Amino acid sequence: MIGKGTQTRLRLALYPKAEMAVRSGHPWVFADSVKSQNRPGVTGELAVMYDRKDRFLAIGLYDAESPIRVRILHCGKPSTIGREWWLEKARACLARREGTVLKDGTDGARLINGESEGFPGIVADRYADTLVVKIYAAGWLPHWEEIEGVFREVFSPDHLVLRLSRNITAKAAEMGITEGFRGEPGDETVVFSENGIRFEAAVLHGQKTGFFLDQRDNRARVEALSGGRDVLNVFSFTGGFSLYAARGGARSVTDLDISRHALESAARNFSLNPSLTAVERHSVQADAFGWLEEAEGKYDLIITDPPSLAKREAEREGARCAYARLNAAAMRRLRTGGILVAASCSAHVSADEFLQAVETAARESGRPWRELWRSGHAPDHPAAFREAGYLKAVCLELG
Ligand code: SAH
Repeated sequence: MIGKGTQTRLRLALYPKAEMAVRSGHPWVFADSVKSQNRPGVTGELAVMYDRKDRFLAIGLYDAESPIRVRILHCGKPSTIGREWWLEKARACLARREGTVLKDGTDGARLINGESEGFPGIVADRYADTLVVKIYAAGWLPHWEEIEGVFREVFSPDHLVLRLSRNITAKAAEMGITEGFRGEPGDETVVFSENGIRFEAAVLHGQKTGFFLDQRDNRARVEALSGGRDVLNVFSFTGGFSLYAARGGARSVTDLDISRHALESAARNFSLNPSLTAVERHSVQADAFGWLEEAEGKYDLIITDPPSLAKREAEREGARCAYARLNAAAMRRLRTGGILVAASCSAHVSADEFLQAVETAARESGRPWRELWRSGHAPDHPAAFREAGYLKAVCLELG
């Protein structure tokens, strides 16, 4: 590991508030929470944090350039972090999914969910025999070879793809680490199954790791509500909700997305599932906000699952208004007895704020309405701290 041997161990003292946050399980130490350190740190080395009484507090990955200065790996008693440690963590992640998320009919799942599972800044998604690892924090780069070996040993993928978040690609290139297949190359589009429905994942170039696995359970909920309904899937991406609606017996499904590529992928996904192609299908390439407000036609079930509308804290207020406006427009397109499934993946908008925006839109519609359910991510996306719980969904029935 970097920093080993040649230099003394990097030691940090934290301000009391940060110390308390770390003790209560928060996985990040921000740069302005570091009171002092024994020497400048190097990105990727292990930093040991001490409490006010100079007792071991936690150990984490240091990042000299990021405002998140340390990502906590372990808090409590001193522990040795190395290959054995990673192996044990990765095995625990796999064990939590085997027989639960990963079962007959489902070979696509998130295997490692970053901070919430002991790998802060890394996610690993499995699509059939391909493992896609996405690294979000530069601190992992010096450890990548070791981590790759651990993932290969525990997850035994036939193919492994490395993806890097944009802010670390330059640093990675300096270290000779680039995106793409590692070892044996595979196809850039991988077909996998989710609850018995086949989908393609664009593992090399698609958004995130190629598919949105976090909506798996909400899709199954939509399937259960779709019988005999005209379904509109707004921000349909590759048609996830639409295929489930078709299997649930929808009368028709309409995909609405601004991206032609996304709509084409949805069409291919239908072709991968011949038993679902009988449903009446429509595809609309348009800006969802404008189309919902201007076009005509009514539906019995509408799903709104936009991309994040608040990438920064400063965009939070605007995002709340956008959710209200979007869902108000969707409600106007619902027939009597129609159902709205509204989702938000904006980490900066809390569940309460999002629910309030949707409920305000429902109240202002002047129609009677009731909530059928609310939910978050599928269980392979555990959220161990507040910021990790980005996905929320609510389902309303309108009279
Ligand atoms: N619901 C999807 C994920 C949605 S991702 C699923 O379950 O897999 C967000 C999608 O919104 C992307 O496909 C993107 O192309 C689309 N999009 C972004 N801005 C849009 C806009 N203004 N109008 C319509 N679609 C938009």
